[in-house]
Amino acid sequence: MAFEGLADRLQNTIQKIKGKGKVSEQDVKEMTREVRLALLEADVNFKVVKDFVKKVKERAVGQEVMESLTPGQQVIKVVKEELTALMGGDESKIAVADRPPTVIMMVGLQGAGKTTTTGKLANLLRKKYNRKPLLVAGDVYRPAAIDQLETLGKQLNIPVYAEGTEANPVDIVNNAMEKAKEEHLDYVLIDTAGRLHVDNELMDELIQIKGNVNPDEVFLVVDSMTGQDAVTVAESFNEQLDVTGVVLTKLDGDTRGGAALSIKAVTDKPIKFAGMGEKLDQLEVFHPERMASRILG
Ligand code: GDP
Repeated sequence: MAFEGLADRLQNTIQKIKGKGKVSEQDVKEMTREVRLALLEADVNFKVVKDFVKKVKERAVGQEVMESLTPGQQVIKVVKEELTALMGGDESKIAVADRPPTVIMMVGLQGAGKTTTTGKLANLLRKKYNRKPLLVAGDVYRPAAIDQLETLGKQLNIPVYAEGTEANPVDIVNNAMEKAKEEHLDYVLIDTAGRLHVDNELMDELIQIKGNVNPDEVFLVVDSMTGQDAVTVAESFNEQLDVTGVVLTKLDGDTRGGAALSIKAVTDKPIKFAGMGEKLDQLEVFHPERMASRILG
């Protein structure tokens, strides 16, 4: 599971201050120094770390006194609140269009887990929210991507709209919208093409699809194993496409996780879901507070 190293270090740090009946400025200084190192070691973006530590320090030194908590516990509460805020504050909801279908466009680099996540999300929408989704094969460059989506659709018993590799993605999406309306489906999930690196051609196509279909959500799928690259990728997709949310994949893996933790702070877009495995039911709604509790123990 991701964040293990970070969790160990932060829990150690917290342990030292926990029982203190009095917390001096020096104690706060030492604690924030350790928190800073722990975050940097976990690969959290350095600017994000700097802001985080500054906020914790300010609040922990001038903290509001609560009689129910010891000063040590109050400092820990500050750390937890700031860690929650760093990951996005409240759990964010998924859009619902005034007139169905709600359109969700999935974007991201090849290998990030876009196609799998599209299937997982359709599964979650049906299971948890009782919605009827349609999967759309908008990646016309890789025949394997279309096959993969069709296989996912069969496994999940969810319809897939595909036109093969010859058609234009904008036309495919328009035709898929017609089908969704005719068949009274609630969600249209568009799997789009990815590349190994961000490039202009890819972005132009995505911008075109977005302009044409005007999606209710644009979810950026990011591989949490890719370290600081994930932050750079998120910045550039967000600049061009103004994404509405992020899905972090592979959080079940042995990643330090810090880059993933930086994405919300850098893009100011919420993390909506977390991929916790390869199986189709291993997508979770992302709860910043629960994740902060998991990390801080
Ligand atoms: P795409 O190129 O972005 O469409 O990526 P795919 O959906 O084909 O996924 C690439 C690989 O990552 C596949 O082997 C998936 O099974 C795997 N994958 C996707 N999400 C997760 C996840 O949350 N956890 C793990 N462990 N593997 C994942």
